[in-house]
Amino acid sequence: MTDAATEKAQAAHAGLEAPRTIVVIGGGQAAGWVVKTLRKEGFDGRLVMIADEVHLPYERPPLSKAVLAGEADIDTVRLVKPDDFDALNVEAWQPDCASAIDREQRIVRTQSGRDVQYDRLVIATGGAARKLPDALVKTSHVTYLRTLDEAVALGERLRASKRVLVVGGGWIGLEVAATARKLGVDATVVEGAPRLCARSLPPMVSGFLLELHRANGVDVRLNASLVKLEDHPHDANRIRATFADGSTLDADFAVAGIGLTPHTALAEAAGVKVDDGIVVDHFGATDDPRIFACGDVANHPSAWLKRRVRLESWANAQNQAISTAKALLGTFEPYADIPWFWSDQYDVNLQILGDIPGDAQLAVRGDLPGKRATLFHLEDGAIRGVIAINTPRELKLSRKWMNQGRSIDLATLTDASTALA
Ligand code: NAP
Repeated sequence: MTDAATEKAQAAHAGLEAPRTIVVIGGGQAAGWVVKTLRKEGFDGRLVMIADEVHLPYERPPLSKAVLAGEADIDTVRLVKPDDFDALNVEAWQPDCASAIDREQRIVRTQSGRDVQYDRLVIATGGAARKLPDALVKTSHVTYLRTLDEAVALGERLRASKRVLVVGGGWIGLEVAATARKLGVDATVVEGAPRLCARSLPPMVSGFLLELHRANGVDVRLNASLVKLEDHPHDANRIRATFADGSTLDADFAVAGIGLTPHTALAEAAGVKVDDGIVVDHFGATDDPRIFACGDVANHPSAWLKRRVRLESWANAQNQAISTAKALLGTFEPYADIPWFWSDQYDVNLQILGDIPGDAQLAVRGDLPGKRATLFHLEDGAIRGVIAINTPRELKLSRKWMNQGRSIDLATLTDASTALA
């Protein structure tokens, strides 16, 4: 990040009056952190949050795990307790949906017919689960998982089922499959690609996850091209899936986890720049100095990756939102976190930090088949990326070294008998 970028952001801010009304569109984790941070930083003006769900902001990581298993509910996953949210003095327009942004008059209109004039606007609209094509789906027994209500409904259905078909071998698909197995439900995962989580993991770790799921009884089918999902011919309460090779598979229902479509339409219609997400700078500002965006919907310049990226992760939703809220009030702390992501499946906690190109030569410390290993991607003697499998301490230490830009000795790193310190 350059000083010029900060100077540019400061100059844009200096040309505007101090905000008296801030409107936040969205009610998820990023929106929640924006309103929390604004109040913490002393903003005492009008704060309006427009969200289409009835729930106050909550965190999503438990949705595909504890909520599905029936072990967590809204009270467990909340970002802010209702009393604390009341104390923030936020006008929560819920459930309502922002339908248009009039940039000239600085007005947000909603589907229910309300409108509000803003001095600053934050778009934290996240996204929706990508849907399977209509041409493929001929049954109503296909579900998706993005919201708390969807997770609760899916959990009830899962716990009443014997076999679930999971379409998509990405993070949702694998966590749902792991939860299904924990509940004693048979699971088949069908993935179109030749390996699991192909976009975010190198082949070695895709292979590890494949073995993990198979060892836990999941029927994983790679290179599987689904051509039809329909009601079972003899039981309309069940489904039948047909694949390109003519094979079929019967299940009680299907859940598809085939990616996220960011909610950018509102910004796009208002003429705010969009390119795989709403394009923002290091401080969350869009090309309109009064409009900001953060979380899953925002495409930001990542100092670590040295390229623009739209991150769909818990850490990004929180920390980018904090940086954005501060910038709204004139405190410019660039969002420059090293991208970090984790998943819990069975007895495995897997964390990914930094940059792991698909063709990275990984240095392995520990025992990958034994489910305890740290994999490093090094560049010029320093760590660029880490994957930690049940080694959270090593990930924490790596994060420190990465932030310090410290040079690392490969032999020490891969010698599991030498403690990392
Ligand atoms: P994802 O991680 O992008 O995975 C989607 C997977 O589905 C990809 O492997 C994709 O393959 C595959 N796919 C796409 N179309 C398919 C089709 N027609 N048939 C079979 N496979 C198909 O997305 P996700 O799992 O749906 O997750 C959605 C969001 O939730 C992501 O942002 C994810 O990071 C987040 N999430 C995070 C966590 C966590 O933090 N632990 C847990 C769950 C979800 P291609 O890449 O080849 O298209």
